[in-house]
Amino acid sequence: MTNVDVIIFGGGIAGLWALARLTNQGYNALLLETEALGAGQTIKSQGIIHGGLKYALSGQLDAAVTALKDMPTVWQQCLHGNGEVDLSNVIVLANGQHMWSANKLTGGITTLFASSAMQSQVNSVQESEWPAALAQATISSKLYKLEEPVLDIGSLLRSLAKKSQQRCIKIDATDGFKLEIDNNNNIKSVILKTDNVSTELTAQRYIFTAGSGNATITQELQHTPAMQLRALQMVIVKSNNLKPLYGHCIGMGATPRITITTHTANDQIPIWYLGGKLAEEGINRTSEEQIIVAKQELAALFPNIDLSNAEFASFYVDRAEAKQTSGSKPHSTTLFSNHNYITAWPTKLAFAPLLAQQILDKIQQFGIKPMHITLPDTISNLPRPKVAVPIWDQLL
Ligand code: FAD
Repeated sequence: MTNVDVIIFGGGIAGLWALARLTNQGYNALLLETEALGAGQTIKSQGIIHGGLKYALSGQLDAAVTALKDMPTVWQQCLHGNGEVDLSNVIVLANGQHMWSANKLTGGITTLFASSAMQSQVNSVQESEWPAALAQATISSKLYKLEEPVLDIGSLLRSLAKKSQQRCIKIDATDGFKLEIDNNNNIKSVILKTDNVSTELTAQRYIFTAGSGNATITQELQHTPAMQLRALQMVIVKSNNLKPLYGHCIGMGATPRITITTHTANDQIPIWYLGGKLAEEGINRTSEEQIIVAKQELAALFPNIDLSNAEFASFYVDRAEAKQTSGSKPHSTTLFSNHNYITAWPTKLAFAPLLAQQILDKIQQFGIKPMHITLPDTISNLPRPKVAVPIWDQLL
């Protein structure tokens, strides 16, 4: 039997951030991952460290806006190497995002951003300073800049993984592990099976941060929270004619008509990664239909960009969260503590630091102290997970 303080299931942003915080606090923690680190939602995220301003589009400063407000500052400290986790090696793709409207009827963003609550966080941008990609776009409002950074997720995952490499173990999704549960519904141990070798691990606390995998892992446990999945069909465009752009084109509703982030494929060709309403409404379309709609949107919004030779791809992905009675996005992180385990979803990449703090607080509330100082020898030969490959390099 191998004893550690904490075992985490799932190596997306939530599990990796929690692992880093727990380890920094002296806990001997291990992370179990079935695919590659970040392979779920994290590698597919647009990398925007939201501060809530996008959500203010609903016209009200609701709980999500308030909860997200401090996140960019926490991340900035980490990116500068003086925060709770050292992210000084992470590539910052943009230090802010632009927001504009292509339709006169939605020029209401001008009123919203002119409100006193928003003024300190949003600036309008002089036309001489517009990014090249927007210089010839269809814009009917002022152009605003939100001070919310956009990160290269591959480098974020590599940075977090590097520091915790020896604490991450690759397990097989189907029969690679088994939870042993006692009569009081506590987890007694986890039995790992790798290459016909069984390793039994016990911990003081077990944490489930496996995104959509949480539902499956916890199904044998008695008290587990319900999960909801909200689907997207994202679109990827690859062309040398694309210029850097990070921003939201606002439409009629609370969700931007399109959200665009720019990345670089491994052959150095620029990628535009398209989300927003296009991705939300795209879930009922086939991939071919979604790509046609994406081409129409880009032609309407950027009539001067030649995409005749561009490559397009689309894919479906679920956002996994704690179930809400309304079915809509939770306002913040969600964490449930039952018996000797915690089930958690960050809801947004940007919330990872807050969720890790909540996990740490919960563990300390239960009086759990670091007890097992060194990494057990029994895990040294177990397989290690790789870091996930960006989705555009998987598909194009
Ligand atoms: P995941 O990233 O899904 O990680 C879960 C991990 O658990 C995976 O690696 C998986 O392989 C592993 N796993 C599954 N089952 C098991 C098991 N049984 N045992 C062990 N491991 C298991 N948020 C933002 O703040 N900004 C954005 O710009 C943004 N863009 C997004 C774009 C898209 C298309 C999507 C889908 C989401 C976006 N989000 C964004 C939300 C954000 O990506 C997620 O909230 C966040 O990545 C969730 O992280 P996670 O660690 O909980 O889950």
